[in-house]
Amino acid sequence: MLSRLKGISLGNQILIGMVLGMIVGLILNFYVTDTFIKDIVLMNNVFYLGGNLFIKLMKMLVVPLVFFSIVVGVASISDVRTIGSIGGTTILIYLITTAIAVTIALEIGIIIQPGVGLNMGGITETANLTVNQTMTDTILNIIPDNPFSSLANGDMLPVIIFGLLIGIILAKLKEKAETFNKIFTEGNRIMMEMTSIVMKFAPIGVFCLMAKTFGSLGFDGIIPLTKYIICVLIGLAIQAFIVYPSLLVIFTRLNPIKFFKRFISVMFFAFSSSTSNATIPLNLDKLSEMGVSRDVSSFTIPLGATINMDGTAIMQGVAVMFAAQAYGIDLGTSALLTVIFTAVMASVGTAGVPSVGLVTLTMVFNSVGLPVQAIGIIFGIDHVLDMVRTAVNVTGDAICTIIVSFRNKAMDLDVFNGKKPPKEEEHIM
Ligand code: ASP
Repeated sequence: MLSRLKGISLGNQILIGMVLGMIVGLILNFYVTDTFIKDIVLMNNVFYLGGNLFIKLMKMLVVPLVFFSIVVGVASISDVRTIGSIGGTTILIYLITTAIAVTIALEIGIIIQPGVGLNMGGITETANLTVNQTMTDTILNIIPDNPFSSLANGDMLPVIIFGLLIGIILAKLKEKAETFNKIFTEGNRIMMEMTSIVMKFAPIGVFCLMAKTFGSLGFDGIIPLTKYIICVLIGLAIQAFIVYPSLLVIFTRLNPIKFFKRFISVMFFAFSSSTSNATIPLNLDKLSEMGVSRDVSSFTIPLGATINMDGTAIMQGVAVMFAAQAYGIDLGTSALLTVIFTAVMASVGTAGVPSVGLVTLTMVFNSVGLPVQAIGIIFGIDHVLDMVRTAVNVTGDAICTIIVSFRNKAMDLDVFNGKKPPKEEEHIM
């Protein structure tokens, strides 16, 4: 049995765990009346333990993973400042497109209300029912009183700010702080490895979470989950086929259809691999084929794979609304602004590997006090959404790269328009 499982990819194992959990939960809900076996043994012990052990493992990862990767990410970004304005413009566009993405997702969540009807409040206890800080509190809370207690308490915004500052300083000090640079780089590697180990438990964790949820809710859980998937897909479609083409037209007047015709193969690869990082070589190649200078793309594409994840941010925005509605939590304006900021930072802070968006989702939830248990419900169906959002993530990287290279005259328009074949690189730096 186990050796057979080994042949199945982790994503599919999670999917199987989800479907089995759903079936077992529904069977328990409809056919099992024995409350001792059902409620005491299974629901409150076996499934509760299995599901929450997994959630605790995920939570354990968040603070060190985000902290190390923000430090390492920023330390390497600041290096490229020497490249000049290109670095600054690229980072700005990346941040803005991600902020647009979360905002769209939150709007969709508010309009379609995917979590309404799920009524999770009855299944897991909620800490506070209204999350409504004032704007000034939000701003003040970004600066840690004591960074170590923020790290210990998992207060994400101060942790992010502290990480950003250390990253900037490491980049500035360079070899004067080489040992620390190494420590953070290796710490980041260790946390990535730990993440992939924890993910191996995901199929069992997801099975337990789904069984518990559907055992309590029955069919009532299916409609909100379907609505959640639809919301994320709508958000991803808007970003890919409305926001990106509009940016391309506004900033470059290039034809988006010509772009998509060529770029579709990169999107398919990202879709099937679920990782922006692994898509970097293909993305670079395609952009050269479209006339973009490698001098720009070889810097902006790897940077984008790490700091620009618009598709991921869309999933996170919808997930926040889904969870808030499911738990009956009222998110005020400043909580929503916190979500936008944290989701943008989550996108900056982690590398483009499969499912990492779910880990950082914990941090987005924590930032506004949403119960992370809700992540368990969307975990099972996340594999497919991860595939689609990775395709959007890499498209965002490519569009920003085209805009930046166009504006820096590092793009051959005749090549883009198919009037001549791709030529030797012209060097602009
Ligand atoms: N798989 C995504 C990527 O590599 C990240 C995520 O959303 O989990 O871009």
